[in-house]
Amino acid sequence: MVKLGTVSAPLRVAIIGSGPAGFYAAERLQKEKRLVVEIDMFERLPTPFGLVRGGVAPDHQKIKSVTSLYDRIARKPGFHFYGNVEFGVDITHEDLLHFYHAIIYAVGAQSDRRLNIPGEDLPGSHSATEFVAWYNGHPDFRDREFDLSQESVAVVGVGNVAIDVARVLLRTPAELARTDIADYALEALSNSNVRRVYVLGRRGPAQAAFTNAEIKELGEMEGAECIVDPKDLELDPLSEAYLESGADPVAEKNVQVLAVYARQPAGKKPRQLILRFLVSPVEILGTDHVEAIRVVHNELYAAEDGTLRPRATGQYEEIPVGLVFRSVGYHGVPLPGVPFYDRWGVIPNDRGRVLTEHGTGSLVIGEYAVGWIKRGPTGVIGTNRPDAIETVELLLEDLRAGRLLSPPEPSREAMERLLAERGIRYVTYEDWLVIDELEQQAGQALGRPRLKFCSVEEMLEALAEAGQALPVEE
Ligand code: NAP
Repeated sequence: MVKLGTVSAPLRVAIIGSGPAGFYAAERLQKEKRLVVEIDMFERLPTPFGLVRGGVAPDHQKIKSVTSLYDRIARKPGFHFYGNVEFGVDITHEDLLHFYHAIIYAVGAQSDRRLNIPGEDLPGSHSATEFVAWYNGHPDFRDREFDLSQESVAVVGVGNVAIDVARVLLRTPAELARTDIADYALEALSNSNVRRVYVLGRRGPAQAAFTNAEIKELGEMEGAECIVDPKDLELDPLSEAYLESGADPVAEKNVQVLAVYARQPAGKKPRQLILRFLVSPVEILGTDHVEAIRVVHNELYAAEDGTLRPRATGQYEEIPVGLVFRSVGYHGVPLPGVPFYDRWGVIPNDRGRVLTEHGTGSLVIGEYAVGWIKRGPTGVIGTNRPDAIETVELLLEDLRAGRLLSPPEPSREAMERLLAERGIRYVTYEDWLVIDELEQQAGQALGRPRLKFCSVEEMLEALAEAGQALPVEE
């Protein structure tokens, strides 16, 4: 029998999704000594890099430079990118079983968690994920509308996404103009009336989910100041003991930075970001549009697992706002033909090996998960590297044990033939490099890092104009 992973029988792996987790999985496969591997990465959009392009805030350009590593991975022999190919629509689970020895799901968490409170669906109440995708030029979200004529906004949640949303809402037009924010969002935000953004945490400052660099940055906005009520920093004995234990240096530093904001005199800058703690939204009020958010004040108690949880006190407050963004976490969506555990929004798995069911399920041979669809929406970009390594090492263990799929046609040509038969106009990595160059050139002319194409049609037209040979003519 021919040994899999050799020149005569390359290991064929399909990676679904082209965000950080997918690229780190590819990197680990490429690093395996003496393994001959063909990696085909499928992506729904014509553009690679997932949340690095569509999620990372536009004023965080430095973070985006991680794509230079992904670029090196994509250029390695044996790696092919198939953009504009949607899993479950253009290519199915069944199809992949025909062409690959292993499938790695790296699709992230594409939806959001809800608050489940009355008024959540009123016009003017949105998920932060929609707003983030909109200002980052994600083609599916470019037509969303946000009523930026409002002066006051509430952002629910105190994670890094909430901080991103609040900061982008309060940046000056000049600050935004230095970024790669979508053109239409730059215009809308430059004409925005937003003056006040309340960021609402249900627990105390010592339990906030944001990280140090992100909270420090709020002190450096050109036209907005960060306001913290000193009373909110009077810690309860449980939080105080937690910080004093030294177990959480990030929380300790967060509280120190917040104390600096609490001491600063307010009113120096025209716009305000007001951080509030120990409040939970109970209702979004309004008749045909958001008019206010009703919150209950909380106190903390120690739950059985030792974590400090919020408990309502019975004291309520209404904060007048015309726009609400809920930023309480992302949530995965199921893929056709792939097991899913709805409660956590993940593919059930054991350290990355897909299971038929959460907890008690049996192994699904040859199928793996990495990133947010494996562990849930936590951690920063770099967290996905050890996460992907863990999964790929199990895949390699399965390869050595002969526990992978036995596809009837393990051939890239055969897979491409299928896409061609279906008239799928896929975008190669070379095509992406053309789009990338065009975006950067257009940005340079305006002193911006890039000017994004925000629709699939625009991207395909630009490729056609650039004379890029597309695999299939429409
Ligand atoms: P997150 O860090 O999990 O924060 C979610 C926030 O929502 C928490 O403050 C949480 O409070 C709160 N929350 C949850 N349910 C709630 C409810 N029912 N009512 C009120 N508040 C509620 O999620 P995220 O901000 O979406 O970020 C996702 C991941 O991406 C994180 O790991 C984040 O660090 C990362 N990220 C990083 C950056 C960066 O590095 N600059 C930027 C963006 C995102 P509790 O703690 O009380 O549950």
